[in-house]
Amino acid sequence: MTEQRLRIALQKKGRLADDSYALLKKCGLRFSIRSGGLLARVKNMPVDLLLVRDDDIPSFVANDAADIGIVGENVLMEEKLSSKTKFDADIMMRLGFSRCKLCLAAPQNGAVQTPADLKGTRIATTYPGVMGQYLASNNIEAKAVEMKGAVELAPSIGIAEAICDLVSSGATLEANGLAAFETILESEAVLIKSDRALSPEKQEIYDRLTRRIDGVIKSTETKYIMMNAPRDQVDAITAILPGADAPTIMPLAGNDDLVALQAVCTENIFWETLESLKTLGARAILVLPIEKMMA
Ligand code: ATP
Ligand code: ZN
Repeated sequence: MTEQRLRIALQKKGRLADDSYALLKKCGLRFSIRSGGLLARVKNMPVDLLLVRDDDIPSFVANDAADIGIVGENVLMEEKLSSKTKFDADIMMRLGFSRCKLCLAAPQNGAVQTPADLKGTRIATTYPGVMGQYLASNNIEAKAVEMKGAVELAPSIGIAEAICDLVSSGATLEANGLAAFETILESEAVLIKSDRALSPEKQEIYDRLTRRIDGVIKSTETKYIMMNAPRDQVDAITAILPGADAPTIMPLAGNDDLVALQAVCTENIFWETLESLKTLGARAILVLPIEKMMA
């Protein structure tokens, strides 16, 4: 019998690609991407990478050309909403990178300043599906002008009064004299899979891989914190540690008032947290990264 290999559809090149590759590498997968190649073989796990344009990823997963895929939620939603047939690919995991927003925007100080002002206007977009759903559920009647790109130029060339486009920093909008006034979708990279059952062999690879992905995502936010703390402040200190279980408390040689306190924090530790710890009497506070985790 031929070996079964899990096939993952990934963006070949672009704003999703590098972080997708980096995530899989952090999961221990070894592979190299050759320019021009459509398929990359993972050397140390039965996994193949199908390298394509991001727009093709949802339908490849839905149509069984790949078992799973990594794609922007924005692209998945658009494919789902604009597909004529039932679309069989769902989000299994949110991955936390390639964050962006799909926003409505219009010329600064122009006639369109709020969603209500959109009535009767033309809105340029590459997301007719997601935008159409937003307009319908908010009872806004407007005309979609579908474009393949360069949507931000539409108002200045006079083919639309507003646009619906992806925004991350807002610099592109500003450079074109536009301002966003409404967010209709907040997006990040997601892992998708169809609801067809995988073969037992592929299911096993999938389970192993997703457990590792889960560990990588958790460990990037999770930190190990160590400090010396006044014995009588241990409860107050534990209460402000973000997402920590019971800390480890150890005596300090030759000091009865202070203890060494260590804990795993599963949420971000900000400078403000450290300042509050110091106010409670904590000293010698160290925050260390955690490289790998498995619950
Ligand atoms: P392709 O050639 O694969 O079709 P593309 O030009 O359509 O690529 P990219 O610009 O590489 O797409 O963006 C891919 C995805 O990255 C977007 O669909 C979105 O989910 C996310 N993204 C878009 N803009 C940004 C941004 N500024 N920062 C982070 N992520 C973004
Ligand atoms: Zn694309």
